[in-house]
Amino acid sequence: MNRGRFAPSPTGELHAGSLVAAIASWLDAKATQGEWWVRIEDVDGPRCMDGAAASILQQLACCGLHSQGEVAYQSHRHLRYQEALDQLIAKDLVYPCACTRKEIEDQQAALGLSLARHQAAVYPGTCRHGLNGKDARAWRFNVAKFSALRGTAVVDWHDRRLGAQSQNVLEDVGDFVLKRADGLWAYQLAVVVDDAAQGITHVVRGEDLADNTARQYLLQEALGFEHPHYLHTHLVLGANGEKLSKQNGAKALDLSSPQAVRRALQSAASALGLSNFAAIADGSTSLEDTLTFWTQEWSKKYTPVSH
Ligand SMILES: [Zn+2]
Repeated sequence: MNRGRFAPSPTGELHAGSLVAAIASWLDAKATQGEWWVRIEDVDGPRCMDGAAASILQQLACCGLHSQGEVAYQSHRHLRYQEALDQLIAKDLVYPCACTRKEIEDQQAALGLSLARHQAAVYPGTCRHGLNGKDARAWRFNVAKFSALRGTAVVDWHDRRLGAQSQNVLEDVGDFVLKRADGLWAYQLAVVVDDAAQGITHVVRGEDLADNTARQYLLQEALGFEHPHYLHTHLVLGANGEKLSKQNGAKALDLSSPQAVRRALQSAASALGLSNFAAIADGSTSLEDTLTFWTQEWSKKYTPVSH
């Protein structure tokens, strides 16, 4: 049984961009008669908005999308993440890091590492060999050590839309954080632990997250988990050409009437390159039949893969 998931962060209500990710993951699961689960990624508590998770579930229901498994909340799963970190500590694949952001920037500047836009410069591995008497702030995954064990820092993976992908995690990312200095779990660890715990076989999400996949591959290997299949969808761009997000002014979806729901679904489907299903616009086709129509289209576009 294939199992896909939609994993929104409850930083606000769904907008046009997040509906695309929801629909894509739903269609992909249904294309193989698989299950579709919802997971609320509220691991970064301070960024979450009260009531947003409930609103998101309500919005999904309006669009005919219902989680088949119990909705999971990352904020309830600290023990699972701690267990995973403990496993990695036992394998000596992680280390505590005492560096402040300022110290890391100074080290990077001294090494001539520059900071590309939207991209953090590589952590230079300062604490890999000890804290020099300083207090631990964060935990980092030892990419250097794990790469040596597996024979290479290069992760080759396949994306069902983008094709062959490759990243040298040591050179492009460096030893990445699993538990942050503020005590919060990093996205990479939480996602990998949850996908494995929930038996997720197919990950379908926005292209902005594709860059995380190589890191997640390494963590899956280090924790003895299987790799899910990956497909990263087109992004919906805002007026400024950047990914549509609440931060750049994306409005909550208007789902106030059956017509509004149909309009929202139409535009999500067209963002995914699915055909404009005329019958949905005039309301002569049910939501269910419309989703079935797009499921068939999805199967033609992206060959279903079984686990
Ligand atoms: Zn450090």
